[in-house]
Amino acid sequence: MKKVAILGSTGSIGTQAVDIIERNPDRFTVTALAAHSNVSLICDQAGRLKPRIAALYDERAARELRRLLPPEVAVLSGQAGITAAAAESGADICLTAMVGAAGLAPTLAAIDAGIDIALANKETLVCAGSLVTDRARKNGVRIIPVDSEHSALFQSLVGHNPAHVKRLVITASGGPFWKKPIEELAGVTPEQAVRHPRWTMGKKISIDSATLMNKALEVIEASRLFDVPQERISVLIHPESIVHSMVEYIDGSVIAQLATTDMRVPIAYALAYPERIECPAEPLDLGKIGGLTFFEPNEDRFRALVLARRALDVGGTMPAVMSAANEQAVALFLEGKIGFLSIVKLVDEVMGRHVTTAVPSLSEIIQADRWARQETNIIGEDI
Ligand code: NDP
Ligand code: MG
Repeated sequence: MKKVAILGSTGSIGTQAVDIIERNPDRFTVTALAAHSNVSLICDQAGRLKPRIAALYDERAARELRRLLPPEVAVLSGQAGITAAAAESGADICLTAMVGAAGLAPTLAAIDAGIDIALANKETLVCAGSLVTDRARKNGVRIIPVDSEHSALFQSLVGHNPAHVKRLVITASGGPFWKKPIEELAGVTPEQAVRHPRWTMGKKISIDSATLMNKALEVIEASRLFDVPQERISVLIHPESIVHSMVEYIDGSVIAQLATTDMRVPIAYALAYPERIECPAEPLDLGKIGGLTFFEPNEDRFRALVLARRALDVGGTMPAVMSAANEQAVALFLEGKIGFLSIVKLVDEVMGRHVTTAVPSLSEIIQADRWARQETNIIGEDI
């Protein structure tokens, strides 16, 4: 039995993980669940999965949950409660499926407790980078990616010598707008932007997919996870989203992972690793699909990719600033305060004003994150 803690159990990734776990009751048991404020769903999940710990970030929601759950379930609250849910879960693996930089502290706490990480929360790796990977190495903790592209890269790298890798190729669906003329993008509404052509996901990552900032974060995530510099990571638009990414080796071989667009495939892989388990995803029928297409992205049009490369080249606190400014800019866009095209423009401006700390401590990263959010709000007023 593998013991699992799920941070962000009520979200898109979290609920799909619960589905995989419930289909494999002889393989997995859940020790902790955590979310922000969705009392009814976490209560329902706790009733079925019987964790020892259930945590909600929101204090009022946590008080309500305490009234609903039996006394043997420890109900925790606030940032400290989420972090404790990770650290004290006694789990073998912690799925980090909460959204944004809020995932950083609990992920580090799980690593310090020697718990393997199934990493969905890419923002953690983008903002704290080597701080997370170094600590994982020191604690003998494995970080197994859940992000479909990184799962594909991980699967294509298993059993190979990293010195033989020439290039990582990350595929991108392109989101809903990659073919639209730039003039038409100014008036895009949040409702249009969250409607992704291939995946049903949380709001923030759906907007990130539309701006290609998701791909930008993924370039940084891949560079951190696999220790490959940005010059050797390329992005290809692949609208069918069947080839989830590929690794090119020095002998000219390219190894890819293919599957239908169902996040339960990489979630099941990460949870069961190094085993493979059956997954309810529709089988891949390439004969029916017929053709797979690939296009070079125009990096001038999708400035987010340029920003990611710059953030990696500058290093230090810059990726944290990029990610935090983006989180705040997406929030402003969802509140109707800025236009769609202003999201990436704002991130660019904030990065331009940032004075980087080269080898930051955790508190310097948190400070840079806070500064970037404030700066985004200030510049966002007049953009
Ligand atoms: P959702 O918005 O669907 O879910 C977010 C989850 O995190 C919810 O359970 C939410 O709780 C919880 N949460 C939010 N803030 C906090 C907090 N401060 N403390 C504790 N829990 C919190 O997001 P997704 O599932 O789409 O994405 C989660 C992560 O996975 C992101 O980092 C995303 O980039 C990554 N990812 C997602 C993919 C997808 O297909 N969805 C694909 C690849 C990566 P509540 O419901 O109570 O608000
Ligand atoms: Mg992805």
